[in-house]
Amino acid sequence: MGLFKKKTAGASAVSGAVTMIPAAKPMIGDEERAAVDRVLRSGMMAQGPEVKAFEEEFSKHVEGRHCIAVNSGTSALHLGFIAAGIKAGDEVIVPSFSFAATANSVALAGGTPIFADIDPRTFNMDPAHVESLITPRTKAIMPVHLYGHIAAVDQFEAMCKKHNIMLIEDSAQAHLASMNGRPSGAWGSVASFSFYPTKNMTSGEGGMVTTDSADIARMLRLLRNQGQEVIYQNEVVGFNNRMTDIHAAIGRVQLRKLPAWTIQRQKNAAYLSANLKGVIAPYVAPNTTHAFHQYTVRIPGEDAAKRDHFMTTIRERGIGCGVYYPTPIHRLPSFRLELDLPETEKVIKECVSLPVHPSLTQADLEKIVSVVNDVASKL
Ligand SMILES: *Cc1c(COP(=O)(O)O)cnc(C)c1O
Repeated sequence: MGLFKKKTAGASAVSGAVTMIPAAKPMIGDEERAAVDRVLRSGMMAQGPEVKAFEEEFSKHVEGRHCIAVNSGTSALHLGFIAAGIKAGDEVIVPSFSFAATANSVALAGGTPIFADIDPRTFNMDPAHVESLITPRTKAIMPVHLYGHIAAVDQFEAMCKKHNIMLIEDSAQAHLASMNGRPSGAWGSVASFSFYPTKNMTSGEGGMVTTDSADIARMLRLLRNQGQEVIYQNEVVGFNNRMTDIHAAIGRVQLRKLPAWTIQRQKNAAYLSANLKGVIAPYVAPNTTHAFHQYTVRIPGEDAAKRDHFMTTIRERGIGCGVYYPTPIHRLPSFRLELDLPETEKVIKECVSLPVHPSLTQADLEKIVSVVNDVASKL
């Protein structure tokens, strides 16, 4: 199985005799191993031709935008904010119902994250609440396409035009998600993807920034490489956030597999939604294509203890699951803000993500349905 065997194998030890269907499963095959071997044999491992080719190939999935590969999704967000000009005193509206990196990257660029509530159907930022948070200091709105469901980007795009602010996308979970045929990563002035092992495709670790601005693209290339385009001619104060050719070589193979994997995720989700009972299945908004990074159901009742009991019980019966994310960002010790985000607080007590990854077999899907339906009927 290769690179990531330990993580998934660990899960099956939980309940001894029961084999576990893992919540997520990176798929690394012979082609990825051969690609890494090719780079290692070349003797050139740092950023080089593989990174360039990966950027060109990724660009085809974001309507030909400039693509800049970096060493993580968090770096993609962080450099994206700096290149977009976010600085001290600037406010960026983000969801609190997301991974901490969403808000960390605003703060690391010197800006202030302003947390918006969500629409509980899509788990994404509620446009009406976002608009109410806009002040003269607001410089950008950054929706997160959580679980692979594209946010209300059509409304955010119009809002940004009206208020003359930037739209930035956190597309870390939304490779190939789209609205009206336009993919995630092709809406914002800047967008960021992650290639962490549990994402819909991986490069081991890695990220990609996409932008339609040649100036922002150039700044991103400078920022990831010590501020230099020509060696030892450092134009700005920059980082070493480069992607290696080893990681890019893995990413290129995974990118070729991504479209078929995404279709398989969508088929798995459709089967689950057609057959699960006693849980609220994920909603797919009209005119959107869901990338199903996660298949997240809700256990109605706003009762975290009930949801946790559901999770413990299905795990005992071999179904991996998880809560993404157990604490809203604004309440984490790193931010510790007292805000009133009622929909976020409600959903955080109800959500649970079930396996949807493309390596599930029909037998796995049937087992998920029978266990979930049985456990949900006894809650
Ligand atoms: C994974 C993720 C990130 C960060 O990506 P890394 O590659 O882990 O640094 C940022 N935002 C969201 C919503 C994510 O899911």
